[in-house]
Amino acid sequence: MKPTTLEIEFLGTGTSTGVPMLRCHCPVCMSSDERDKRLRTSAIVRYQGARILIDCGPDFRTQMLRASDDNLDAVLLTHIHYDHVAGLDDLRAYCFERPFPLYARVDVLRNLHARIPYCFASDPYPGVAQFEEHVIGDEPFLVEGVRVEPIPVMHYKLPIIGFKIGPLAYITDAKNIADDVIERLQGVPLLVINALRIEPHLSHMCLSETLDVVRRIKPDKTYLVHMSDRIGLHAESHKILPDGVELAWDGLIAKV
Ligand SMILES: [Zn+2]
Ligand SMILES: [Zn+2]
Repeated sequence: MKPTTLEIEFLGTGTSTGVPMLRCHCPVCMSSDERDKRLRTSAIVRYQGARILIDCGPDFRTQMLRASDDNLDAVLLTHIHYDHVAGLDDLRAYCFERPFPLYARVDVLRNLHARIPYCFASDPYPGVAQFEEHVIGDEPFLVEGVRVEPIPVMHYKLPIIGFKIGPLAYITDAKNIADDVIERLQGVPLLVINALRIEPHLSHMCLSETLDVVRRIKPDKTYLVHMSDRIGLHAESHKILPDGVELAWDGLIAKV
């Protein structure tokens, strides 16, 4: 029997700089609370026997050494920014038997060919990461038999995607989400969504914008990701969050 519970392990919950941020000595960056130490945003979703990595940033190696289980079947990419793809080279450890399945929009794949051409060479150098490419369009697709629905969102001017997998909706780096997309996500049991900080930002939703989206989607439970130091201390976050909404933290495993 394939397990019907979905499990998400948060590998990283920080914004592009990570927290602590280099050269910042604010109370959050100086905090000794492990939940205030945020590697770049990424997660493993385990569902119906599949182990799916979402994004593969510069902290990927460290994250997998810490993960509760280091098996992976495929990687899904939300967008091309460095904090979401810089660890792809380290997937070479998963390419011994076959090229590793990689799912991304065509613009992301094209960009990766330019950035890490050696991973897509027809006669690759021995041992480099090799990928089995899958283009994500607008339609749902299967990863190891698991249905994945792309969720289009805008990251300022850049169209990017989140994913709906069973009872989970996972959105990172969104600034704007269209009404029909919010409509489609109504009542999803578990929502993972970005909230950068308290003050507004050009390309990422701030906390009040995110909470607005949460109020409209009405999930049972929400975890926030892609946070900067300016989201505040984890230990005090309950004071600014409504019931059912929590800051995620690195290493958290949530089940639904
Ligand atoms: Zn990002
Ligand atoms: Zn980004």
